Amino acid sequence: MPHSAPDSYPRRGFPPRSTALPEMATAVIILNEEREVEYVNRSAEELFEPVDPHGCTMPVLLASCGARGGEEMFADHVSGQDAEGTCRLRLVDERLLDCTSRRLSNGGYVLSLDDVTEHVRNAELANHDALTGLANRKIFRERLSERLADARQSGKPVAVLYLDLDRFKAINDTLGHPVGDALLRKVAGRLTGALHPDDLAARLGGDEFAVLQSGSEQPASAQALAARLVDLIGRTYALEGHTLNVGASVGVAIAPQDGYEPDTLLRHADLALFRAKADGRGAYRFFEHGMNDRIQARRLMEIELRRALALKQLRLVYQPQIHLASNAISGFEALIRWETPDGRVVPPSEFIPLAEEIGVILPIGEWVLRTACKQAAAWPDSVAVSVNVSPAQFRTGRLVETVASALARSGLPAARLELEVTEGALLEGSDAVTRTLATLRQMGVRIAMDDFGTGYSSLSYLQKFPFDRIKVDKSFVRGIDRNSHRLPIVRAIVTLAAGLGMETMAEGVETEAELACIRAEGCDGVQGYLTGCPLSPEAATALLAPSRPLSSTGATE
Ligand code: C2E
Ligand code: MG
Ligand code: MG
Repeated sequence: MPHSAPDSYPRRGFPPRSTALPEMATAVIILNEEREVEYVNRSAEELFEPVDPHGCTMPVLLASCGARGGEEMFADHVSGQDAEGTCRLRLVDERLLDCTSRRLSNGGYVLSLDDVTEHVRNAELANHDALTGLANRKIFRERLSERLADARQSGKPVAVLYLDLDRFKAINDTLGHPVGDALLRKVAGRLTGALHPDDLAARLGGDEFAVLQSGSEQPASAQALAARLVDLIGRTYALEGHTLNVGASVGVAIAPQDGYEPDTLLRHADLALFRAKADGRGAYRFFEHGMNDRIQARRLMEIELRRALALKQLRLVYQPQIHLASNAISGFEALIRWETPDGRVVPPSEFIPLAEEIGVILPIGEWVLRTACKQAAAWPDSVAVSVNVSPAQFRTGRLVETVASALARSGLPAARLELEVTEGALLEGSDAVTRTLATLRQMGVRIAMDDFGTGYSSLSYLQKFPFDRIKVDKSFVRGIDRNSHRLPIVRAIVTLAAGLGMETMAEGVETEAELACIRAEGCDGVQGYLTGCPLSPEAATALLAPSRPLSSTGATE
């Protein structure tokens, strides 16, 4: 039998499990010791259609079909911490599944998933949110319908304020759910304290709140309340020995001008909230017609990106990195590309920020690491691979395991992997990030600081962490032979790096004159269109064949 299933049966008279398992109404998934899906029964297959779960890890599978939840449990799988676990998953169509996981004797896991949507919905029929005591979504919607019906008669405006906490998830993840819950209760307290007796506050779920306001002075009343809420909720909290700061963003929609239907008004307030978050959080925005189109386009891209991951539309190209003393290829930087079904190649600048925002960067980053390590293992021993790592990958706390697993599976020695980090990663929770970097470095992985000089405080990070290499950003390299201001900057960076025992690599070298300057300044390496454009894996490998001269690095991705 191909799979190792739960071992408590068969007993005499039971059908053999190979017949029973596919037929079971409960969805069953079996993960192998690599935490990849090895088996799904029919019920499980139906849940994830059209994505084929085979070979995916659970985080990749869930991200591919837009499902949420289970992060902690699946992280525990990787560390092998808990033999049993449960979690709740929310599918993209809002169905809720309770997932139970048990470790198998072969090191794999068996997961069973039960649809609990109806059960949970019934429980929600009660009117109040159990955690905060505020009205729940059902009541809020009912009151909104009533007020809108009144407003149709009276002509008085009704405002909906949609409120969402900024970075609440990080607090929940780092300090635990009890602190997260206590924070939500405090937020609810501040929220109700700011309202007029006629207003209604509700918790719609998670860290989302809404207010129904019927003051006749609109939009002035809504504006005053939104500003007050952003200020009040953004003030410091003292909770269980922690001092916490969490911001709030608010979206506002007002009937009649923004819609008379409850769902339209709610959706428009949500779009305005989305805008407030996109504009930098800790702010409020009013709905404007036209937000719809822009945000719809983004949401469409979000769906396409999740599908791209599932349908394998992502690929890596490899840009040569040249060691200047020997003129030899010392490594390649792996750069991601998204090829859409209509043949368009989307550059990372267009989708990595979105992928970071919606969390898809985690399965993407994992895939990039695995693919790049596997590819590099086929190259000569002297050739390394550099992989870009997003700030979000540090936040999961799982980067070390992901890197270790990519190295182990590919057989690539750690010293041939370099991780490129930007200031964005270092800015957030710098102690935890520094510890992660130190662990990776102890494993033998090299760490490079990417785009050096473009951030606010690149210099201060150099004393916090001993990078192996500094990549001088292309903005300082472009036209260095002609621009009298760039040369001294590059010279200073090279001197600084040498003093700290770090190597330097100049990015974006496009002309012979730039190369000559960079060489004269003593940079250790270069990477740019002059010495090699990003190449397909096949072209990169061919370039490493002993007979190929360096000058033949064509622009074939
Ligand atoms: P980066 O890490 O600084 O990568 C170098 C970028 O400069 C690449 O753009 C590369 O194609 C481009 N480049 C190289 N030589 C030249 C040159 O001579 N002239 C000019 N004008 N450009 C040159 P690309 O591939 O569009 O990547 C842009 C950024 O996207 C990367 O900047 C990196 O921050 C991010 N990125 C790319 N792949 C990944 C990935 O797998 N994961 C993550 N998290 N980020 C990625
Ligand atoms: Mg890079
Ligand atoms: Mg760079």
